[in-house]
Amino acid sequence: MIVAERKPFDEIKGMVAGYKKVLTIGCGTCVAVCLAGGSKEVETLNAELKLNFGRDKIEFGSKTLERQCDMEFLEELDEIAGDYDAFVSMACGAGIQFLAERFPDKPVFPAVDTSFIGVNLDVGWYEEKCRACGSCVLGLTGGICPVTMCAKSLFNGPCGGTNNGSCEINKDQPCAWFKIYERLAAQGRLDQIKEISPPNDWRNQIPRKIIQPGYEERVKALG
Ligand code: SF4
Ligand code: SF4
Repeated sequence: MIVAERKPFDEIKGMVAGYKKVLTIGCGTCVAVCLAGGSKEVETLNAELKLNFGRDKIEFGSKTLERQCDMEFLEELDEIAGDYDAFVSMACGAGIQFLAERFPDKPVFPAVDTSFIGVNLDVGWYEEKCRACGSCVLGLTGGICPVTMCAKSLFNGPCGGTNNGSCEINKDQPCAWFKIYERLAAQGRLDQIKEISPPNDWRNQIPRKIIQPGYEERVKALG
């Protein structure tokens, strides 16, 4: 899932100051699971904003969509959007941009910082796992991501800084490639560590689009 954190209150407050009617919009998917931007967080933020600005100065409305990264759900805002001067979005960066794209005349402000793609270790505890590099090598690395876990994002490792299982940047940071070695060894696949991965072309440097097989004609018709 995409993990995000709510921005500091003063930063959000500074963005909405000067508007008269603001709609705070949550997202019911990833940011709700990581307790950053679901319906509860929308109500909490609005309560803080109302308390801080006073009810008469700015009117705050609230709405949580199932997903802000899906036009089908953004359509739910069409009827009420005109009632507001500005939006505060509590979705991830993708959802915020899609919202801004649907309502280009409306100022849209982010209330969360999108942090990473990660997993839920426990309630309120998340860990980054993937940096969406576009060329997944997990099949060669025992299911451990060297792009995320290695400080140098090395596709072929370890580097000379590996030190008794730790990364050279910090003794508390495990060396990704030491972990990969251990995992492959335990699975009897150690010969794979000798396979050289070619340089990555870092397809994540420009926005990417994916069309699933079977949907090409439909996408073409949509232009
Ligand atoms: S190798 Fe790339 S796609 Fe695979 S988990 Fe790591 S960053 Fe994500
Ligand atoms: S010590 Fe290990 S984790 Fe750190 S940069 Fe080198 S290979 Fe990557």
